[in-house]
Amino acid sequence: MTSLSAPQPAPPFAIVTGGSTGIGQHLVGALAAAGYRVAFSYYASPEPALALVEEQTARGHSVIAMPCDVGIKAQVESFAEAVVAWAGSAPDLLVNNAGIQTWSPLLELSEERWDAVLRTNLKGCFLNTQIFGRLMAQRGSGGAIVNIGSGCNKHAFPNLVDYTASKGGIEQFTKSAAVELGPYGIRVNCVAPGAIATERTAEEAPDYAAQWSPMTPLGRVGTPADIAGPVLFFAGPAAAFVTGQTLWVDGGVFTRA
Ligand code: NDP
Repeated sequence: MTSLSAPQPAPPFAIVTGGSTGIGQHLVGALAAAGYRVAFSYYASPEPALALVEEQTARGHSVIAMPCDVGIKAQVESFAEAVVAWAGSAPDLLVNNAGIQTWSPLLELSEERWDAVLRTNLKGCFLNTQIFGRLMAQRGSGGAIVNIGSGCNKHAFPNLVDYTASKGGIEQFTKSAAVELGPYGIRVNCVAPGAIATERTAEEAPDYAAQWSPMTPLGRVGTPADIAGPVLFFAGPAAAFVTGQTLWVDGGVFTRA
């Protein structure tokens, strides 16, 4: 007599934009370790993306990477088509993480730089949310979207006017998208990191930790791992009734005036 076992549900499927380095790279690993199949986009540097796929595959995880400029609709559509074909379904989770930042006084900020920052950070969030949100809505079993904002838009932040405008936009976009997508069972939340030590921040300021730690009530800068926990929280069942929220993950640094 043969014993019949119930069919196993497919593992959940997550998208991470800008997964090749920094916070995104850590998110890819954390989501894979939590049982997700992960597809991530990258932009200019294929080497770290391919190394990450290799590393995760060696650990037995299902991870793929594709180049995709998050600010170009046709590229996001091609990315979505390819990764949905790979996974065989719409994603359960989208993390809008891709972002760029440079410092410039307002009076010297070029129009090109303003456009690049707003296009990558804010339009990228919109395009991915619309394209993957439609797929989630069509599938009909809900989903979660987590947008990576920034603690620095909590207060005025000189020399970052383009960046803070984009991240303030993400916070508001999160609320409006949550209201519109709620009826489809899609929850939309925002994780707003404070000072997080990554390769990029080390390149920008070698004394990054020394600069930020004394100002931070918890006495240190954050790590990409500090961001993964809140993203997994918003993605999972513990946050089943949470939508439209921004969680400040900054060790308290932007809470002080
Ligand atoms: P990194 O520069 O390390 O990583 C950025 C990622 O985004 C890379 O994978 C990069 O790909 C990708 N990317 C850049 N432009 C595009 C684009 N047009 N299309 C697709 N992907 C793109 O940054 P962090 O890890 O530090 O930051 C990640 C997110 O967290 C950003 O949204 C940032 O604003 C936010 N954040 C970070 C903080 C920090 O202290 N680190 C603090 C607050 C918020 P590639 O390398 O191939 O170009």
